[in-house]
Amino acid sequence: MILLIWVKYKIKKISILRYITQLLFFLLILYLSIIGVWKGVLLLVIFGITLFFGRFFCGWICPFGLYMDTVTLLRRYLGIPYWLLPKNLNQTLHKTRYVVAFMILLLALPSFILGSTGLLELTNFIWLRPPFIPYTIFLGPLQPIILPWQPPFGALFEINGIYFTYPYAGEILMYLQKSGFALPLAAIFVGVTLGASFKIRRFWCRFCPTGISFAAINRTKQFQVLPLLSLDKDGEKCTKCGICKRVCPVQVTEIYEKKTGKIATSMCMLCLRCVEMCPQKNCLRLKMANKVI
Ligand code: SF4
Ligand code: SF4
Ligand code: SF4
Repeated sequence: MILLIWVKYKIKKISILRYITQLLFFLLILYLSIIGVWKGVLLLVIFGITLFFGRFFCGWICPFGLYMDTVTLLRRYLGIPYWLLPKNLNQTLHKTRYVVAFMILLLALPSFILGSTGLLELTNFIWLRPPFIPYTIFLGPLQPIILPWQPPFGALFEINGIYFTYPYAGEILMYLQKSGFALPLAAIFVGVTLGASFKIRRFWCRFCPTGISFAAINRTKQFQVLPLLSLDKDGEKCTKCGICKRVCPVQVTEIYEKKTGKIATSMCMLCLRCVEMCPQKNCLRLKMANKVI
């Protein structure tokens, strides 16, 4: 069916390659989850990838990105137009994510300071036990939606030993388990993110603390010597048609505004949709170690 959608709408080769890559990584992450590889290891690997390939993970690997892209494909198939967020709002959300990520990092501090889980149990702050538990929030987007075993933080529902879950659903269930609102809130989160992704491409990516932590690496000058992958624009070939700006799923505008040279923005997740849709040959290019690929 996916192939039929692409044939019908003549989406180009990069999108096909990207979707297949996302599916393969989804299967790999599912397999790693089944054999019990600790997702913290995965997160460290992903941070390593980010040092060399920028936000390639967000564009080509992230399972939550795959779910949102699948909803986008469905919307396209139905011929329903998408909404664009106002530019200022989009950029504000992008900046707000830094604050959210920083607050998550701070959540582990009390455990270090108090050094005792007993005291924390009194306050019922179960998410502070042991110190690194809060950082599982950064792993939310890696959550496969189907698991043949009960996920440690809980699942949305279960049918014949198959557990259905969703990014962040486990964390919501864990943090709010004693409130009685956990399951309804998790269900609302699923509904809101899938529903909003139907009209706003990569909806959750505008809020995601994981994505912003990768973006923070991208922005840090000390790490900027490492990224091998980058987008580059040949300003002489650009006709200012604006297509790149319109097709970008996270509404990066620098690709359009920048006159020429390397496009360095922490919002770009290197999905290459702008590259494949730019009507001017070799105007937008992907470079690896300064060589066009
Ligand atoms: S921003 Fe978050 S949800 Fe979006 S692709 Fe990156 S890690 Fe995944
Ligand atoms: S799509 Fe290509 S030609 Fe059009 S504005 Fe963007 S870079 Fe320029
Ligand atoms: S600027 Fe281009 S490569 Fe970057 S996220 Fe937007 S469409 Fe993808």
